[in-house]
Amino acid sequence: MEYDVTIGLEVHCELKSTSKVFSPSPNAYSEKSNTNISVIDLGFPGILPVVNKGVIKKALTVATALNCETPEYMIFDRKNYYYPDLPKGYQITQMHYPVGTNGYLDIYVEDQVKRIYIHDTHLEEDTASLDHYDGYSLIDYNRCGVPLLETVTEPCMHSIDEALSFLESLKRLFLYTDVSDAKTELGQIRCDVNVSLAPKGSKELGVKVEMKNINSFYNVKMALESEIKRQTELLNKGMKIEMETRRYDESTMETYRMRSKVEAVDYKYFIEPNIPPIKLTNELKSEVKESLPELAFSKITRYINEYGLSLVDAKTIAKDKELATYYENIINKGKDPKMVSNWVTTRVLGCLSKDEITISEFNFTEEKMVELLEYIESGKISTKQAKDVFYKCIEENKTPKKVIKESGMEQITDEEEIRKIVLEVLEENSEVAKDYNPEKGRMLDFFIGQTMKKSRGKANPEVATKVLKEELLK
Ligand code: ADP
Ligand code: MG
Repeated sequence: MEYDVTIGLEVHCELKSTSKVFSPSPNAYSEKSNTNISVIDLGFPGILPVVNKGVIKKALTVATALNCETPEYMIFDRKNYYYPDLPKGYQITQMHYPVGTNGYLDIYVEDQVKRIYIHDTHLEEDTASLDHYDGYSLIDYNRCGVPLLETVTEPCMHSIDEALSFLESLKRLFLYTDVSDAKTELGQIRCDVNVSLAPKGSKELGVKVEMKNINSFYNVKMALESEIKRQTELLNKGMKIEMETRRYDESTMETYRMRSKVEAVDYKYFIEPNIPPIKLTNELKSEVKESLPELAFSKITRYINEYGLSLVDAKTIAKDKELATYYENIINKGKDPKMVSNWVTTRVLGCLSKDEITISEFNFTEEKMVELLEYIESGKISTKQAKDVFYKCIEENKTPKKVIKESGMEQITDEEEIRKIVLEVLEENSEVAKDYNPEKGRMLDFFIGQTMKKSRGKANPEVATKVLKEELLK
């Protein structure tokens, strides 16, 4: 039988900040366990959390970028449960009044525009991390209290491709708005993946299975593939899917059961009494809105519509905010968008990946690119020569001007300078020149050849032709 797949995602993102969300300890990665901690993180009796204002602004930034409604007050809730990674016995989170609700994010899935609906985005504290060994486990409280923003989508994605495109786009949004380093390899982005199957065309959604805490987009893909296969096989056998939470195991690339939703925990949520409501003023909201950068989706769309780029090239450039800035700064100097896109998507990116550097570490700056393109535009060097100049500039960390001067490759375009050479050529070949006949193209070619030779290849051929014709007809 054929099934419609439905996917909903809960994406946790560690926000960057100097100190943690409710305590003054540093929010920093540390090789050494239990060093970035305070009594607040450890849940000592009588402690009081103090909210980090900078973090609230970052959460509000994401909510705004996701086109969410935002509440009048920032209010937190207690989610009560016991686990060794949660020393207080409760997690401070947002349940009743999330910082963002009812939003959406437009993304490209292949060449289609798709709107992904956001149920909510809410701010909470990360838990400690547990390292399991043979027969015992160790707790590292460094992660305790790291600001965590959880974004929950509606069940509105219907393929693995859509889910992955959304994750990439959301990660890009975190990077564009500079709220997080968004490094999945450091666990800064982790997701819960919900998936259900229903008979094709059915109006109701199937029973969902949740896969918790997946730490890379590749594993999201693998977990979804395995889970969709498992559910398809069960349904084909006429069996029911049980609402449950499963865990994805990287080594077997399969999911296994953690707990049934029937035994789901009652978290006894109530409003966190130790944090007074914090007003999200209209001034703050408009300040956040106005300081939002143009996001990747809008850039891609603009590059296609205004600059005539292909979707692939537009996506390639907008993938990285710094690269997009590099590109746009060159365009803003009046350079041709398609030509620049060609240089950026092929040669520039080629160099970056070869040297494993980012655009900000690249020594061929925007200014150098503008200079190089001006040499091509004015016909002083050919496109082929420009490529050599480009690589030489990078290798020797020089400007195009310097490289071109040093190698003497600059074309002579000045008419009078070329005329001097032409006159010398004509004098040296005066016998041939006497018999010049404009009908005989080959004779002109001979003189062009001689002129090029005399200028050691530097005379601009068009100018040389024009001057030769003038002089020969005199
Ligand atoms: P729960 O009460 O189990 O936490 P929620 O309704 O809060 O479930 O949804 C949690 C996540 O599961 C959301 O990302 C949502 O999009 C997704 N989800 C809900 N129902 C389904 C479904 N039938 N199929 C796939 N995903 C679903
Ligand atoms: Mg939920």
